[in-house]
Amino acid sequence: MMSSAKNPFQWMYEEAARGNNASKYAELPEYPTHIDVELTSTCNFRCRMCPVGNLSLDRPAGFMSWETFDRIVEQCASQVIGLRFVGWGEPMMHPQVFRFLRRATDALLPTHLNTNGSKIGDYEQQMLINMGLDSIKFSLQGSTRETYAEMRSIDFYDDLFNAVRKFHRRRGVHPKPFISVSTTVTDEHPSTIEVFKRKFSPFCDQLSVGHTTFDFMDDVPEDLAARQTVEKKHFNPCPEVFDKLAISFDGTARVCCNDYNGTTNLGNINQFDLKDIWKEMTIVSYRKRLSEEDYTMPLCNSCFDYMKLTDG
Ligand code: SF4
Ligand code: SF4
Repeated sequence: MMSSAKNPFQWMYEEAARGNNASKYAELPEYPTHIDVELTSTCNFRCRMCPVGNLSLDRPAGFMSWETFDRIVEQCASQVIGLRFVGWGEPMMHPQVFRFLRRATDALLPTHLNTNGSKIGDYEQQMLINMGLDSIKFSLQGSTRETYAEMRSIDFYDDLFNAVRKFHRRRGVHPKPFISVSTTVTDEHPSTIEVFKRKFSPFCDQLSVGHTTFDFMDDVPEDLAARQTVEKKHFNPCPEVFDKLAISFDGTARVCCNDYNGTTNLGNINQFDLKDIWKEMTIVSYRKRLSEEDYTMPLCNSCFDYMKLTDG
């Protein structure tokens, strides 16, 4: 039985899912409701389907500087924009992650962290709770120990389950952080997904199971390609360009988080104000074309909704 804890980002997600591309284009907000901040483009895992994990990322590895993060917070503070530590890399690898988190919570910005869970021991769990993190998502692939290990190239499923369980118990009756668990699957049998849900549900506030995509791999081995179950249906509305901004570790804003190789450049937050980046011509053009149901842009033509298999 999952708790009745509230996700402080829920209204932002509902807003992003409201209407369609055309209606969102017509009612663009002055600022994004939330920003994905990539603390680092490095990761300690070697997941097969991820360009960070399979080392195919076509841009340098690095860590966000304090000055860049401070500038992001400064730009977001007056609008109360949510900050998600989400990007192409494991945010807990950043040596100053707690300093950054404290900076954001001191500015009263809603905060969220996506993690593979491998760097969250007892000390880190307590620090995240003490610093007022609002929301955390533990990410997996697969529904069983075997399929997790197959996709993530590491036997960490049981350790992760124990970490989630411990974190949930440590949070106790505190209202936050809101705890999500999310996995994606290939052609795994539905019964294994049900077992997965029963196993994790008591220790989180939200659980989601989506489809694993191999679209981010340069060369997809035949054995994997045949098992992909993603329905090739475009988003409408796009969950990114009308509500959210993605900022890479070096401060460069991108059209959306799908741009893992950094092919778009809306300007660097260290040089431009957030309100100008939000209206930069590349992202404006993406919004306009999406509003006309044009998905032929290089990032969009292979972007499909790979979540929404089950929520529980
Ligand atoms: S844990 Fe996440 S960032 Fe790291 S390699 Fe796997 S999918 Fe990529
Ligand atoms: S690739 Fe296109 S459709 Fe997909 S999230 Fe980015 S802008 Fe939206």
